[in-house]
Amino acid sequence: MSVVLQAQPDPDAEDFWALRPSLREPIPAIFESATLLSQAADAFLIGDLETAGERIRAANMAEIREWIESLWGGAKQNPDQPLYNRKRAITPELPKLDLTLRHPVRMPNAAEKSIILERDGWTCRYCGIPLIESKARNILRLAMPDALVWGNSNREKHAAFQCMTPEYDHVVPHCYGGASSIENTVICCGPCNCGKFDRLLEHQGLLDPRLRCASRTAWDGLTRLPSP
Ligand SMILES: [Zn+2]
Repeated sequence: MSVVLQAQPDPDAEDFWALRPSLREPIPAIFESATLLSQAADAFLIGDLETAGERIRAANMAEIREWIESLWGGAKQNPDQPLYNRKRAITPELPKLDLTLRHPVRMPNAAEKSIILERDGWTCRYCGIPLIESKARNILRLAMPDALVWGNSNREKHAAFQCMTPEYDHVVPHCYGGASSIENTVICCGPCNCGKFDRLLEHQGLLDPRLRCASRTAWDGLTRLPSP
C-alpha cells in the first residue's frame, strides 16, 4: 500500500483561518472504500465470501489511516504528520465548567439516539463521509476475521471501518455546559469527533453543523445486513 500525502495545512494560506464545516476535508479514498464495502455487503448477502473478503481487504487503505491520524493524532508514530486538531485552534481555549455545573446526563439515551440517527442518517454531520453501523461491521468481522481485521490497537484495526464508525458529538461540549439533548447532539465520524474533542466550535473555526441540513443519501450504513 502506498501512502498519498495530502497537502499540509498552511497557516500562511489565505483561507487557513476561514470557518469551515470540518477540520479537514475527507479524501477520495474514503468514498472509494465505502463503494468497495457496499459491494462487499452485497457479495456477502448472496454468500460470495471470496468477493466480499477481497473488497474488504481492498478498502483497508493506508491513505485513510493517514487521514484518521492527522485528525486524532498519531504523533508518536509519525512526528511529521500534520495535526489538524491543533493547527486549527483559532481562538484561546476557555476554562471548562466545574463538574458540579455540567449537565447531569452524559449521553443521549437509546430512544434519543434513534431519533438523532433518523434525522442525520448514516453520514458525518461535519465532514460528510458515509458511516457504517457497528452491528454491520461485527456481522462481517465474524464471517471474515482475516479480511476485516479488528485488533486491540488503532493500527490493528481496518482503517475504513474505523474511520466510518459512527459517534455522537455534543456540538456544545458537555464540559462547556452542552446538554445531551437531540438538539445539541449530531452523528459524526470518529476522526471528526476525536479531532474536535472537548473544544468549542469557535475554538477550532468550525461552522455549526446544525445550521445546515443533514446530507441524506441512499447510503444505508450497511444496515441491510441481517443479524445472524
Ligand atoms: Zn467526519
